[in-house]
Amino acid sequence: MKKLVGFVGWRGMVGSVLLNRLQKNNDFANFRSVFFTTSQFNSVSPKVLNCISSNLEDAYNIDYLITLDIIVSCQGEKYTRHIYLKLKKFGWKGYWIDASSFLRMNKESIIVLDPINLSSIQTGINNGIKTFVGGNCTVSLMLMALGGLFSHKLIDWISVSTYQSVSGSGSKSMLELLEQIGFVYKNISSYLISSKKSILEIEKVFTNSLNSINYSEKKIKSPLLGNLIPWIDKSIDNGQTKEEWKGSVETNKILNSDKYIPIDGICVRVPSLRCHSQAFTIKLNCDISIKEIESLISSHNIWVKVVQNDFSSTINHLNPLTVSGTLDVPIGRIKKMNIGKKYLSAFSVGDQLLWGAAEPLRRILNILIS
Ligand code: NAP
Repeated sequence: MKKLVGFVGWRGMVGSVLLNRLQKNNDFANFRSVFFTTSQFNSVSPKVLNCISSNLEDAYNIDYLITLDIIVSCQGEKYTRHIYLKLKKFGWKGYWIDASSFLRMNKESIIVLDPINLSSIQTGINNGIKTFVGGNCTVSLMLMALGGLFSHKLIDWISVSTYQSVSGSGSKSMLELLEQIGFVYKNISSYLISSKKSILEIEKVFTNSLNSINYSEKKIKSPLLGNLIPWIDKSIDNGQTKEEWKGSVETNKILNSDKYIPIDGICVRVPSLRCHSQAFTIKLNCDISIKEIESLISSHNIWVKVVQNDFSSTINHLNPLTVSGTLDVPIGRIKKMNIGKKYLSAFSVGDQLLWGAAEPLRRILNILIS
């Protein structure tokens, strides 16, 4: 009989993109499925091939969960912490696939990004590993963009500044940014059609509107429209945020190489809706030509696309709006820095809901099914 796969968190940002990708690729033909919820009890299940229940099931029903061959959770860390440990305690032997960070650094789990670490994944499966976790979104997108340099062991260290979209913080945050846009537009629309108003007056109404909102009950704790927030996730005790800490530890776990590559920088939330962008300063361990660097990068995988370092190519191909909804990972602004010949700068963009979250999960599910 076909394996039974349970989906939890399929309604959220990552889960809905995953569902979409599974449908588009006809993956539901290969297994039976059942959908769970933590809040929409008695609602109908998505209509997909081989779905065994027309209604949503309770995501906290351990007796049901324990019968599943595979559980795919895009529900978040809190759910994983609560349910995964319980299932393990009851001796569940199924596969757990997760989008959240809770289990990433666990010894018994593999962070999945098969264009980078397929051999580790295969070895893990053969050795009985049961837990497969998607990596941090900027980590996965960085590895997809710079895979050619990592695989040729050319990198000493990386300093990175991220420009992370609001959907990276979940569906509620995305709705809040859209509400900010609607609220501000209502306040400034009359000014926009009046020819008498000065630009500074409009700017004042814009800023005052955003500052008049009470953010204490919101998920985003400050205005994001017309703004940015150079802080993502909780703080850890060395001055980094947890998002910044993940950059180094997760990359090195995925690469599983003998030499630890230090990576650090500042993670910044920006008001783009979808796609994370990153500016890299890369210290290479030798002086190799830009032509060679571009060739190594572009031959690493079929999704990375080198963008020529000129204005027209950059504005047309290296931005969140162009990349949203695609698996492409463009990388441009590739140049040697005037700091020295071994210092390289580059800028990349990628859809953090696809390669940064849902796609590695879809692909590990298919690997486990096959
Ligand atoms: P999310 O959009 O906040 O969704 C999580 C859950 O919130 C949903 O499954 C849904 O559960 C509930 N929910 C409440 N209100 C909702 C609404 N209006 N629309 C949709 N769902 C709503 O979270 P997410 O961004 O997908 O993240 C899930 C996990 O993946 C997190 O651990 C996150 O850290 C990780 N991750 C996220 C990204 C990203 O770019 N967003 C990237 C990599 C990893 P019920 O249906 O049960 O109510």
